[in-house]
Parts: sequence; C-alpha cells; structure tokens
Amino acid sequence: MVVEPKVKGFICTTAHPVGCEKNVLEQIEYVKKSGAVNGPKKVLVIGASTGYGLASRITAAFGMGAATVGVFFDKEASGKRTATPGFYNMKTFDREAAKAGLYAKSINGDAFSVEIKNQVIDIIKQDLGKVDLVIYSLASPRRTTPDGTTYVSALKTVGREFTQKNWNLRTNAIEEATISPASEEEIAATIKVMGGEDWIDWMNALAKADVLAEHALTLAYTYIGPQLTYPIYHEGTIGQAKKNLADSAAVITKNQEALGVKAYVSVNKALVTQASSAIPVVPLYLSVLYQVMKEKGIHEGCIEQMYRLYKEKVYGADGIETEEDGMIHVDDWEMREDVQKEVMDIWDQIDSDNLFKLADTEGYWNDFYRMFGFKMEGVDYSADVEV
Ligand code: NAD
Repeated sequence: MVVEPKVKGFICTTAHPVGCEKNVLEQIEYVKKSGAVNGPKKVLVIGASTGYGLASRITAAFGMGAATVGVFFDKEASGKRTATPGFYNMKTFDREAAKAGLYAKSINGDAFSVEIKNQVIDIIKQDLGKVDLVIYSLASPRRTTPDGTTYVSALKTVGREFTQKNWNLRTNAIEEATISPASEEEIAATIKVMGGEDWIDWMNALAKADVLAEHALTLAYTYIGPQLTYPIYHEGTIGQAKKNLADSAAVITKNQEALGVKAYVSVNKALVTQASSAIPVVPLYLSVLYQVMKEKGIHEGCIEQMYRLYKEKVYGADGIETEEDGMIHVDDWEMREDVQKEVMDIWDQIDSDNLFKLADTEGYWNDFYRMFGFKMEGVDYSADVEV
C-alpha cells in the first residue's frame, strides 16, 4: 500500500517501512565512517528500537563490533495498519547485522515483565554466555509491575503551577501553556514508570542468573536541561523519576559490588524523539536550540550523541569521564554558556510572527517525520510498499 503520514498532535500513527530502513542505514553508515569504538563485544540494549537506544545499539554493533541483544515494545503491522517505527528499525538492524557477520537477537515484548527478563537471560546464556555492557534506554508512558498493578506516568510540575511560552503545533501560534501540579499519586506513579526500580530489577536478575561479566558496565540515560524547562522537566514529575534513576546507579553499583559491576547515568542532549515531543514547552525549546546549535555547527542527532558518548566518554583513552555530579555529560554542547545565552535571547523575543525566522521549526518537523520514516531523501513515497 501507499503509506502516508497521519499526524495527530505529537504522534504519527503510521510509519513508512522503506523510510525507517533508510534512517537505520544512514545511522549505520555514520558509525562505520566515524571509525571503531574500543568497546566490549557482548551488549544488551533495553529500549533498543528508536531514539537513543537504537543509536546505542548501532554504535555497539557497527562501532564496537559487538554481538547485541535488543529489547523493545513495538507493534507489528496488521491489516491496513502499519507497524510502529521501531519494528521496521529492528528488522533492518537485524538484517544489516547479519550481513556484517554480527550476532543480533531482537526481542519484542514488555521489558518490565518477568517473562521478558527470563527470555533475555535464556538467550544470553545460550548464545553469549555473559554480557559486558547493559544499556537501559526505556521511555514508556506506563509500567505494569510483576504484581499486576499498572502505573501511568504524568508530565506535570511538582508543587506549583507553571506558565511558559508554548508552540501550538497545530496552529503554529506561540501561546502560553499552563501546566498544573501533579498529585502525590501521580508523582509516585511517574517514579515507578521512569525511575530506576526496573533498571535495578534487570541488573539483579542478570547477576542472579550469572550472565553479567565481571566489571561489566551499565548505563541509563537522563536529561537535565536549562532553568527555563526546570519546572516541567528537571523539577517536574519526570525530573523526580530521573532523580530516582540517578540514585539507582549507586544502588546497582553497591548490589553488584562482588562482580565489580558499575552503573552510570549519562545526561544526553534534548532531541526530538517520541518521548520528548510529548512534553509541553519542550518542542519550542528544541526548535530554538536546533537553530542556535546548527548555526554554530555543533548540532548532533541521536547517533552523533551516542557515538561520541561511547567513543570518547565511556571507552575513551582516559576511561569513564564523569563530572562533579557523578554523571557522564554529552549535553555539554547544549549547555555551553554561549549556546544557552543565545537560546534565552531568542526565547525572550519569540512570538507567533517571528517563529519561523527565529526557530528551526523545519528542523523540528523534519526530525519528527524522520522518526516515522517520512521525509527521507531518496524514498519514493508514492510507491506501493509492503508493510
Ligand atoms: P524513545 O521513545 O525513542 O525510545 C524508547 C524505547 O523504549 C523504544 O525502543 C521502545 O520500544 C522501548 N520501550 C518502551 N516501553 C517498553 C517496554 N515496556 N518494554 C520494552 N521496551 C519498551 O525514547 P528516547 O527519547 O530515546 O528515550 C530513551 C532514554 O533517553 C529515556 O530514558 C529518556 O528519558 C532519555 N533521554 C531522552 C532525551 C530526549 O531529548 N529525547 C534526552 C536525554 C535523555
């Protein structure tokens, strides 16, 4: 069938198989061209099919030459419905890994569940023995815990209402958005979903099953960002969950002391992904940030970020590069003083009339569509494709 984008607010309900394939191929090409990463050879990626997890898996396989196991939660196509992008991404990844002689196993299922954890453990035992790097890159709106309770995360402030400029993605007007504070229950639920409990569970399960190599590393990802977005991000419900995630690194390192396993959190740059485009205020910040960083020639996408993370800051010549807060920072260019100053200058001036001039709205939408395999150069979108 001919697949067209069907955008509803911050989500697109269709995905183009050929465009998604192209997106993965371009990322693989970037890593191959950039050169080898001196990393481990057996890597597990949880949340591997899109965004930062996909870029991490591509870096591990095509940069480190690693065998990879990838876990993700995507829908297959059915009838006239296309699959979700991650499904197509993983198909392409598996095929390209096989072509390159690299082991790759992709598991589509709920990473929060005990069943999927056991399935992954069995595969590692059978095929790889042990893994020496575990990347935890889940972003999910909900989690069902082993006792059957489902928690739903909230994107709200904590304590007080917050009003800020917001880009109305439907009308292109710059309006004010007011975000109301979360209840105690919503805060607790967000921590359950996006905090570190499941990361700890994964590491405990892997250690107990004896599939973690001695001195293995594990990384999870977070975002901090500028003061401007603090109320909705860093100090909001998601920020509370991320604090819990950061604290969980120390818990994991302590739990796995006997094995010498170390856990780290990497602070990544703000980028358009399915997770970030759902947060109010963030799309406008992203498009202003893109404008400034592109002008300075320092803009990076997921693959550039993850390649630089592993090449320089995790497996670089000087070992793991952490900052004062104990975390690894690949948000260093985003947070540069000159970058943030220009972003804030634009932020103060931006309105509905100068939006297209002052912000990289085109870059925002391009990245958005590319996530779903649209607007990729060289793809014939009028052609019939097998979904
Ligand atoms: P994403 O939505 O692109 O990717 C999420 C991945 O998790 C997908 O592979 C999805 O299939 C998988 N997933 C979701 N629920 C699952 C489940 N129940 N079981 C198995 N797999 C599941 O998100 P992203 O933006 O790449 O986020 C990844 C991490 O990076 C998150 O921790 C996020 O907070 C962090 N981060 C994101 C940004 C950003 O700007 N996007 C910036 C810094 C840090």
